[in-house]
Amino acid sequence: MEHVYESALDAVGHTPLIRLSRVTDGISAPVYLKAEFLNPGGSVKDRAARHMVRAAEHDGTLRPGGVIVEGTSGNTGIGLAIVAAQRGYRAIVVVPDKTSTDKLAALRAYGAEVVVTASGVSRNDPAHVSQLARRIAEETPGAWFANQYDNPANPQAHVDTTGPEIWAQTDGRVTHYIAGIGTGGTVSGTGAHLKRVSDGRVRVIGADPESSTYGGGDGSPYYVESIGHYLHPDTADDVWPLSYHSEVLDAIERISDREAIAATRALARREGLLVGASGGAAVAAALRVARGLGPDDLVVVVAPDSGRNYLSKYFDDDWLLRNGFLDGDRTRPVLGDLV
Ligand code: PMP
Repeated sequence: MEHVYESALDAVGHTPLIRLSRVTDGISAPVYLKAEFLNPGGSVKDRAARHMVRAAEHDGTLRPGGVIVEGTSGNTGIGLAIVAAQRGYRAIVVVPDKTSTDKLAALRAYGAEVVVTASGVSRNDPAHVSQLARRIAEETPGAWFANQYDNPANPQAHVDTTGPEIWAQTDGRVTHYIAGIGTGGTVSGTGAHLKRVSDGRVRVIGADPESSTYGGGDGSPYYVESIGHYLHPDTADDVWPLSYHSEVLDAIERISDREAIAATRALARREGLLVGASGGAAVAAALRVARGLGPDDLVVVVAPDSGRNYLSKYFDDDWLLRNGFLDGDRTRPVLGDLV
């Protein structure tokens, strides 16, 4: 029986590819969106959460009845909370105090314990989400620190699932793969698999906020959430996560906030696809790449989560206005003709 699963965890992955047809006007290469927002927890991070837990169970660092600890304001916390709920673990998720009440409520709805700490502190500060999560894991009996940034099971989730899915769904015809870089797990793992099975033919392209240091930016802040690498003013070093394997990437497209938000809104209004701005940034990069390609090429681009998480941001005109993305006259959006 197709699409019948024995548990929520078994329903992770197997996401559809959806062809873009209107934002691709004038482009002859087919562009398909990998719809990761259709995962049970609403994001691509369900894959990494499930894999990291399975690996920790396998090597004995997480035992029955144990405690899963992670520091994240994002989708990984939800993914881990789902795995914890389904497999009978306690989950403690450390989040910065700027995290939206909706996200806190979602974590608690799955039964996770939420610890709120200071936001905007340097990575070396004991109050920083990752530092605090590490300490809680050290001090809690039976606890295991998931540590998605440096956990090899994060990219491996995509070597084992996302990559093979895309290869099978396209009958091996995929020629270009594009994804945003957060921890780097998605782009590195999927990219490594696609390169291996295509004998190096598939081009792997990262989508990165303009000022992020992955693509050579100065590390100054940007609006698009969950991707890129910025520098906290108190932290001199620019340490990239071990989950990011830059050697897998052939190129990085640097995308401005404006371009990412315009693409995000265009996907909703012209394709009926409500995705987050990391997906919008990836689609902006994919369209740039696809403009130089022909009908024999096939582009796959990842939409990591749903736009429902950002209705009060990128889809809210007042937010756009407050943050300088619209001029005073709302009938003349400066986001260009895509909106
Ligand atoms: N977009 C969203 C919405 C995410 O939550 C994440 C995970 N941080 C990413 C993109 C980046 O994925 P990865 O960590 O696998 O690079």
